[in-house]
Amino acid sequence: MPLRYKQTIYMNDSNKDINLVDAPDGVSGAGFFATSLEKVIGLARKNSLWPLPFATSCCGIEYMATMGANYDISRFGSERPSFSPRQADILMVMGTIAKKMGPVVKQVYEQMSEPRWVIAVGACASSGGIFDTYSVLQGIDRIVPVDVYVPGCPPRPEQILDGLMRVQDLAENESLRRRNSPEYQALLDSYNIK
Ligand code: SF4
Repeated sequence: MPLRYKQTIYMNDSNKDINLVDAPDGVSGAGFFATSLEKVIGLARKNSLWPLPFATSCCGIEYMATMGANYDISRFGSERPSFSPRQADILMVMGTIAKKMGPVVKQVYEQMSEPRWVIAVGACASSGGIFDTYSVLQGIDRIVPVDVYVPGCPPRPEQILDGLMRVQDLAENESLRRRNSPEYQALLDSYNIK
């Protein structure tokens, strides 16, 4: 059983328990808990992923709903959208990307610092969607590597949250050295990204 820390808050004179994140695998005893640095960093990254919303059309509206109180993306530590690529962890591309816009998406990705992840939200970002035309990019994975694809036209906010949780899984379990690996460099080289 993973360790689970609990916090009690008081609202309207009634006690409500809030479950906080599970502790990583480790060794615990009276007064101590030991784990690896990699797991601690994975835990921190997982629960503080800052998105850069790159919204060009209707799927962006679903993202706005995801940010709202009902779906409350802040439950996942991602309530702080970053419109500066340098402070963003996840590029969330939502909407139709015209070929003219492709270089802009790529430039934004290149300006993000490592570790960075990409979610293609909705059919248009994933594959061009219904717009199989000369002017529309047939999926953003033609210009940047994509970690998670969220299906739907448009996807529901629950699906966007599910996509975020899949990135959380990646962030939690990724080796600290993965980004230095030859395989990762080869992936970036295949996209001509330095
Ligand atoms: S996938 Fe559908 S809802 Fe999303 S941007 Fe494309 S057309 Fe709009």
